[in-house]
Amino acid sequence: MAVIKANGYGHGLLRVAEALAGADGFALLDIKDAIALREAGYRQTILLLEGFFDVADLEQIAAYDLATVVHSEWQIRCLDAYPRAGSLDVWLKVNSGMHRLGFPPLEAAMAMEALQRHRAVREVTLMTHFANADEERGVSAQLETYNRIAANYRAPRSLANSAALLRYPDTHGEWVRPGLMLYGASPFREVPAERLGLKPAMTLKSRIIATQMLKAGDEVGYGGKYRAERGMRIGIVACGYADGYPRHAKNGTPLLVEGGRSQLLGRVSMDMLFADLTGHPEAGVGSEVTLWGAGMPIEEVASFSETISYELMCALTSRVPMLT
Ligand SMILES: *Cc1c(COP(=O)(O)O)cnc(C)c1O
Repeated sequence: MAVIKANGYGHGLLRVAEALAGADGFALLDIKDAIALREAGYRQTILLLEGFFDVADLEQIAAYDLATVVHSEWQIRCLDAYPRAGSLDVWLKVNSGMHRLGFPPLEAAMAMEALQRHRAVREVTLMTHFANADEERGVSAQLETYNRIAANYRAPRSLANSAALLRYPDTHGEWVRPGLMLYGASPFREVPAERLGLKPAMTLKSRIIATQMLKAGDEVGYGGKYRAERGMRIGIVACGYADGYPRHAKNGTPLLVEGGRSQLLGRVSMDMLFADLTGHPEAGVGSEVTLWGAGMPIEEVASFSETISYELMCALTSRVPMLT
């Protein structure tokens, strides 16, 4: 099941669905997006990861044959109020330790039994989500809690996000739910995407639209956050935080100028940023600058901005033209 929430992690919902058309399922949040996929002709399972928000949603879920997470008692009450029988596929979510969505372990049996015999329900899948699959702590405590519950039922199982899929084969169950790795980024801080055999789907590029010569002591951009120590040349790049490039990226964040490594200088503005052209005498107006993607791992940019690649991808704004 391909996780394509948040506009396909910023890549565009329908573009991503087309690229991943062979997936057995899609998972996302917004019922409108799920309907858009159905209307575009996708027939596989489409799962709503936060489920429904009121009884009215259930009509649409049934009409478009969507699958829905059920994570809370109040959602079972909604199902009770839904008049139709036997048409809904539900994914019962167990909170095995993350404490975000899901029934606590002691209530999972009650929920499972209520759903398995519920007149509105066709099939129940038992799911959970890991908090630390990408970290040292791993999945063992949560996996044990989940397995203790799952052992009591005959139901398809779904546990693994990208990190668990790559690192813990015993979490695979019937449905894995990768997101990030499908877009070619690494879920692990210490393992580059390339080493996992992943290639970035998104490359964010722009061009230099002006250059400036700096003297020692000259300051760059708002707040003068970079000060030249010696004479140097910089390029003004047409990309800023209104495109989704993080404003809090630090001096020295890597980028590529005509394919060669260089760095960000000064504070990112709304529509522009500054690239160091030291060591790139050939670069000038019109030169291509890669902010992340092919040749410039998004994870590196993320770590210079104290964030993660997920956030950078999702933050890409609609004004950025998508070329392929
Ligand atoms: C986002 C999400 C995933 C995918 O996580 P990745 O780390 O991007 O692979 C899987 N399951 C649930 C419930 C999610 O919310």
